[in-house]
Amino acid sequence: MKIRTIEEINNKIKDGEATVLTAEEVSKLVREGNKPKAEDVDVITTGTCGIMSGTAAIFHVPVAEPGAFKKAKSVLLNGVPGFPGPCPNEWLGSVDMIVYGTSHSIHGNRYGGGFLFKDIVSGKDIEVEVESTNGEKIKSTVNIEDIGTAQMIGTRLAFKNYNSFVNPTDKPVSSIFNAIDLEGPFKGFTFSGCGELNPLQNDPIMKTICAGSKVLLNGAEGYVIGRGTRSSDEKPNMMITADMKDMDTHYLGGFKTGAGPEVFDSVAAAIPVLDDEILKETFIQNKDIKLPVTDIRGRHNVLGFTDYDDVWGGADERPVYHPERCLNCDVCIVRERCPTGAYSDTLNTRRCFGCGMCAYSCPNAAFTMESGSVQFEIKDRSIELPIVCRQSDIKRARELVAELTKRIENGEFILNEC
Ligand code: SF4
Ligand code: SF4
Repeated sequence: MKIRTIEEINNKIKDGEATVLTAEEVSKLVREGNKPKAEDVDVITTGTCGIMSGTAAIFHVPVAEPGAFKKAKSVLLNGVPGFPGPCPNEWLGSVDMIVYGTSHSIHGNRYGGGFLFKDIVSGKDIEVEVESTNGEKIKSTVNIEDIGTAQMIGTRLAFKNYNSFVNPTDKPVSSIFNAIDLEGPFKGFTFSGCGELNPLQNDPIMKTICAGSKVLLNGAEGYVIGRGTRSSDEKPNMMITADMKDMDTHYLGGFKTGAGPEVFDSVAAAIPVLDDEILKETFIQNKDIKLPVTDIRGRHNVLGFTDYDDVWGGADERPVYHPERCLNCDVCIVRERCPTGAYSDTLNTRRCFGCGMCAYSCPNAAFTMESGSVQFEIKDRSIELPIVCRQSDIKRARELVAELTKRIENGEFILNEC
């Protein structure tokens, strides 16, 4: 039954009278037997944070005086290759380009597009190297103030649900789905996804989160511009764009994997409660969201199932660092493996992603974290595996959802029809 329109919700938002609940608050109320009614809540806020390989950015970068070169043939930003064009910018001294979040620096595999995007949003100086079609080499340094356009486009963000991964073989497997090569046979488990908080888990047919919807991408107001690549009715995802100049550096960055650097993003979306059916979808519980366990070698060989209550229930958001236990090893395996570079001699809690790799790796328990384990059936036997790497960050997702909730309650985020 129709309860209200978006216009009526927006009027309440502008008057500071909208009732907003997060998707996790709704799920908790349902668990406690207190299902909210559509009459009582106007907006549900949702979100997710994780590795999102479909992330790219479009830049317009001035590199020399007009007339200095005809057009660019290749370009590097901090050693990360971009693709010049599509506009050639003939004789303008500037380069239009697309840079992938998954591109790797030519200087080594500890740096790539995701790290570059974070550095740009942070306002750091970026080294630009251009080779022109006539062979001239131009070097320059820019920061976000100099860059005319810095527009992020996520071609495939915030999948409704994901797979998880194990290695059934006795050889380590290199993959983007773990911070290091995943050891086997059946030594550990990795996964992505924020379960009942995820936007499309709460709006699985994209009834209210759809092309034209306003969302937060890495803290900036952006828009859903359609369904993302590989989106299907069963596993939808979103194509989203936002201006990087409005982003908060905390919500995006690089994440080093066994197959090189990747990129992570955070997305938050508001669901207007227009009728009972829309609200009912948000009653989803982690225990009811199935997580297929697949062979990391091919991704499609489903070996069993677990669920999001198993992977997030009772898990710590972040590790605890115990410096008194650190033995200053010759080679610190935590420093080597930490995918975001959050640990050098101290733990940078803002940079930390909560993946759990430090607690899994340190031989002296200088890091502790309850990452949990999963149990599932394969053929006729039951297997219990430690979670060695979480590729989604529930803490950042919760923080961005809290930010969106605050903006709506303060009348700073108005919903739009789609
Ligand atoms: S591996 Fe652990 S004990 Fe060794 S230096 Fe690193 S944090 Fe310290
Ligand atoms: S949980 Fe540990 S390994 Fe993962 S990002 Fe944080 S400090 Fe690094």
